[in-house]
Amino acid sequence: MVETADRLSDAEATPEQYLLLVGGLRALSRGEHASRSILDSYLLRVMALSGWAPSLGDCARCGAPGPHTHFVAQMGGLVCTNCAPAGSPRVAGSTLELLRSLIRGEWDAVDAAAHSDTAAASGLVSAYAQFHLERGIRSLAHIAAPFSAAPADDYPADADPSREGIR
Ligand SMILES: [Zn+2]
Repeated sequence: MVETADRLSDAEATPEQYLLLVGGLRALSRGEHASRSILDSYLLRVMALSGWAPSLGDCARCGAPGPHTHFVAQMGGLVCTNCAPAGSPRVAGSTLELLRSLIRGEWDAVDAAAHSDTAAASGLVSAYAQFHLERGIRSLAHIAAPFSAAPADDYPADADPSREGIR
């Protein structure tokens, strides 16, 4: 959890991400919920704050309205049968409900979930987080470069971003 937060804050750090981390660590230390669910919820929510929430409704690729049952981490979450690569695993409806509860922080539903759904959801979250954190930080750093941590020679000398917003 801390490692994820550390890697995210390389690209951007927001108070919301910090509060989410503190809340997650507190829940872990108090044993309020299964540690795996706390981590999964943290990962989903911190990615959502960064704009990388998995699609759990419409098709992540073509936007076709859900519900869909193919979850493909590399494509951004749920995808329709037309977009899903052949052989993509299907996800049980109860597992998808658990994913929605994890991202919303609905702990009554999370705590009541069947072990099989908890395990399946955790596998999806891990795959999704791993894929998107590896790729996302690089692309986010690229997008954010003109505004923050770009090396000085990456933009013209007259484009000083520190001057913008000072009026
Ligand atoms: Zn589609």
